[in-house]
Amino acid sequence: MIIAIDGPAAAGKGTLARRIADHLGLAYLDTGLLYRATGRRVLDAGADPDDATAAETQAKSLDPADLDRDDLRTEDVAQAASQVSAIPGVRAALLDFQRRFAAEPPEGTAGAVLDGRDIGTVVCPDAAVKLFVTAEMEVRAERRFKELQEKDPDVIYARVLEEMRARDARDQSRSVAPLEPAKDAVIVDTSRLDAEQVFQNALQIIDRSRC
Ligand code: C5P
Repeated sequence: MIIAIDGPAAAGKGTLARRIADHLGLAYLDTGLLYRATGRRVLDAGADPDDATAAETQAKSLDPADLDRDDLRTEDVAQAASQVSAIPGVRAALLDFQRRFAAEPPEGTAGAVLDGRDIGTVVCPDAAVKLFVTAEMEVRAERRFKELQEKDPDVIYARVLEEMRARDARDQSRSVAPLEPAKDAVIVDTSRLDAEQVFQNALQIIDRSRC
């Protein structure tokens, strides 16, 4: 069973995907980490994340250990990830890994939950369940702001909002695999829901799809 969860930044898809995977005993892949790790490597190499050749080189030489780095969750890496992810060669280089994970999940689990931007549209178009998890921009920016504030009390809300707007706009407007719901995705708006309500909603959608 493959469950595809897509949506914009800070909509709650990671939390939801992890809970569903735990609950159903499925493997979980946060595909954003692949783009973040590629962006991180480009920055480390002193290259420009918009440089297609540099970004493709880094995507092709990505090592699974790169996904475990503890410096992938910063805003500069998020922006670099968004830049490299608009490069067709980067997406092509990362596609196989994602599809293999879905087809042959580690530890022989009965399926996988993948979250990202193009899982239901490109990576796993035949997924049994497709959720598009979203929320109002200001709500998402507020959530990300609170997360970041725990690490850095000087973080500025207006800046977080602006960076999120820029990243969403780039993700939605790129020519390959833009961020958009698959035609058969169920939209889950988390603006007025807490994590438990989102989880219960998602379980009902999954149950319905099994009938
Ligand atoms: O989900 P996360 O915020 O970690 O993703 C970082 C960036 O990676 C996104 O803004 C997006 O540009 C890119 N991404 C993508 N396709 C995916 C997952 C992430 O383009 N499947």
